[in-house]
Amino acid sequence: MAIPFIDLHAQQARIRADLDARMAAVLDHGGYILGREVLELEAELAQQSGATHVITCSSGTDALLLALMALGVRPGQGVIVPSFTFTASAEVMPMLGAIPVFAEVDADSFNLDPAGLAKAKAAADAAGISVVGIIAVGLFGQPANLPAISEYAKANGLFVIDDAAQSYGTTYAGGAVGTLADITCTSFFPAKPLGCYGDGGAVFTNNADHAALMRSLRVHGQGKDKYHNEHIGMTARLDTIQAAILLSKLTIFAEELDMRQAVADRYAALLSGSVKVPQLDPMATSSWAQYTICLPDGTDRAAIQAQLQEAGIPTAIYYPVPMHHQTPYKAYPVAEGGLAVTEALCKNVLSLPMHPYLSEADQDEICKVLLEAVA
Ligand SMILES: *Cc1c(COP(=O)(O)O)cnc(C)c1O
Repeated sequence: MAIPFIDLHAQQARIRADLDARMAAVLDHGGYILGREVLELEAELAQQSGATHVITCSSGTDALLLALMALGVRPGQGVIVPSFTFTASAEVMPMLGAIPVFAEVDADSFNLDPAGLAKAKAAADAAGISVVGIIAVGLFGQPANLPAISEYAKANGLFVIDDAAQSYGTTYAGGAVGTLADITCTSFFPAKPLGCYGDGGAVFTNNADHAALMRSLRVHGQGKDKYHNEHIGMTARLDTIQAAILLSKLTIFAEELDMRQAVADRYAALLSGSVKVPQLDPMATSSWAQYTICLPDGTDRAAIQAQLQEAGIPTAIYYPVPMHHQTPYKAYPVAEGGLAVTEALCKNVLSLPMHPYLSEADQDEICKVLLEAVA
């Protein structure tokens, strides 16, 4: 039997009765759009994260777009973003006519290196692009060093958005993700640590004006009712049925984060010394959205993947091509001095199966085959 890369079935089996009851309740009341479960979910996420305002929306990508729109990003303006990330983090700038400015990440945390921000801004300045903000990403589940990034942002008059599509539920220096940036965005895509059964997302902020604007933008920029429109907006609501599913998943989310941590600890115990295992910043916790090892330079990664696949063990490469080498993004500015860490990571990273229900026996098998392959 092949080992799954993630296992949503094991999770569903635990909560199936509750899921069925909550979905049936939505079918019964019929409030499919912005129904009571949406309000209940927003209140619960606000309570859990400590953010004053939580607005659910249609996807993590739309959450980023709502945030940029609320912060007033204009065509031609620059926003610093890591090149080592999922496409959506950079995609939302060109959607508004704005410009992604690619910055370097730290080799251990995989996250935006605060020390590289000035080199990214210098590249934009040299190209005559005015930088207005930064999108930090909590890659693979670990939040970026948001205090240091915010300090640089404050000194330079920039906003900070935290793309927490993978890192919702974690903390940095004791502060909860959702409260560590001007606006935090997350995704409820099924494979994320907190996923629904379709597309979904949310934005978190303590700023009442930004919150009100994003609530309006989510529904066509509506004003006092749906026939008074004050802004150019979107159709970006979370379906009530997805909110019901998320309320059910939230009942076990904290426990699942602990289970993911236990899997990560065990991987580290079995693998460290033989391969470079992921390093947590001592100030951070992680949701372990991915468990990503780094192979030594020059390793034939495809051969290792093939050997694992042969033994029924799936692996993935997040991400094989940095954003600044992708066709639609090639012309955008790259930090002065280039992105050597990013380039090396794209060649060497390998993500192993990771989910809360990974058994010790499967984990032993994964590590045994991996250690043979890299020996
Ligand atoms: C998944 C993801 C997104 C996009 O979320 P969607 O809900 O798929 O639109 C954005 N940023 C990062 C880092 C992601 O992993």
